[in-house]
Amino acid sequence: EIKTRFAPSPTGYLHVGGARTALYSWLYARHNNGKFVLRIEDTDRERSTQPAIDAIIESMKWTGLNWDEGPYYQTKRFDRYNQVIDELLEKGLAYKCYCSKERLDEVREEQQRQGIKPRYDGHCRDEDPSKHSPDEPYCIRFKNPTSGKVGFDDQIRGHIEFDNAELDDLVIRRTDGTPTYNFCVVIDDWDMGITHVIRGEDHINNTPRQINIYKALGAPVPVFAHVSMILGDDGTKLSKRHGAVSVMQYRDDGYLPEALMNYLVRLGWGHGNQEIFSIEEMINYFALENVSKSASAFSTDKLKWMNQHYIKTLPAERVAEELVWQMDNLGIDYSKGPKLADVVNAQKERCKTLKEMAENSVYFYQEYTDYEPKAAKKWFKENSAEALERSLEKLKNLPEWKLEPIEEAFKSVATDMDVGLGKVGMPLRLAITGLGVSPEMGITMELVGRERCIARIEKTIK
Ligand code: GLU
Repeated sequence: EIKTRFAPSPTGYLHVGGARTALYSWLYARHNNGKFVLRIEDTDRERSTQPAIDAIIESMKWTGLNWDEGPYYQTKRFDRYNQVIDELLEKGLAYKCYCSKERLDEVREEQQRQGIKPRYDGHCRDEDPSKHSPDEPYCIRFKNPTSGKVGFDDQIRGHIEFDNAELDDLVIRRTDGTPTYNFCVVIDDWDMGITHVIRGEDHINNTPRQINIYKALGAPVPVFAHVSMILGDDGTKLSKRHGAVSVMQYRDDGYLPEALMNYLVRLGWGHGNQEIFSIEEMINYFALENVSKSASAFSTDKLKWMNQHYIKTLPAERVAEELVWQMDNLGIDYSKGPKLADVVNAQKERCKTLKEMAENSVYFYQEYTDYEPKAAKKWFKENSAEALERSLEKLKNLPEWKLEPIEEAFKSVATDMDVGLGKVGMPLRLAITGLGVSPEMGITMELVGRERCIARIEKTIK
């Protein structure tokens, strides 16, 4: 059975690069009817935080990347790591290293002087530990093979190979007794039965070290795939400077998870020249061999375009679920007023984000405070008061507060006054929404409701 995992370190929010790696890993598992595991790599206790863990889990839920197992926590597995380290020691595949920090610094400085890449010189590798007293501090190092090559067939990048001579003996347990990251990852992936490790390219240099540990343990080596970085539109590594980078920030900014996932899947993967993918299509078509080796540049414009596409095409009820978030952010009580899904239907053609949609929909639920100055200057003149008064009379007497009779009412006012429709519609729009732009007046008035419309027109006339 195929099993993949996403293994974030909870040292900060989940950023879009991590989310894309998670998405690819998730899609690979789903495509192959396999399992997807979430593992929190919190061994770095100083930098790992509970808020970061919460944010990662919230982001995974929001994006729909559901996991079949986990979340596992590395900090809960220390006994297991130590047990394997003891086994390695017994078998002579790892050793205690008593080198002091001062000695290691000297070695490094000397190597730098000679122009060689700094690496541990193997001083304790073949030393007899009984020479040392039991209370002398030591760390434990893995005995890396000293010759030959270690290679793997990266599913995205092809064959990658390293000389063992380039790799030194990795510390697998620190002097303070805590196991190190590169070791824990191997034990976890082994114990959890991970068949495919899909992760960021920043881990390529860890892979040969990890493969040597698998081999020493007699554990099956998983298949590896290293995903490229995401760059900002200026070609540098994507960071906060480029604007939003955390997944939850995109929710706050009014993006739909459907749009963000579609955007991220296309950023570094393709299927012909198709741009829009439903989740089912992504799962059907996803293949690692179509993932790009080169870095991809993040484009907020394209993401916006996709977001608009999904705002327009997803069922309004679904979009409304996400609009709730924006309404809450603005402190709008949307229980008193039209159904959010009706607002979505009225607004969906003119909004690129749900934030924009919410900001332009306040008048459906609350009184506005001021008229938009430019629009007011343009449309409140000569006969606008008359247009509003005549409209008010007709609207007041409508037997039914519905789109068509409402439209007929203000259209007939324009005919009666022998003016263009705008001369009636625009003052009405300002009176009812306070704005110069809104959905068509018929639907706007229907949704705002009779009482609020009448009251706002009366207030404007006064
Ligand atoms: N915890 C690592 C990170 O967040 C990922 C390790 C892995 O995927 O093997 O970069």
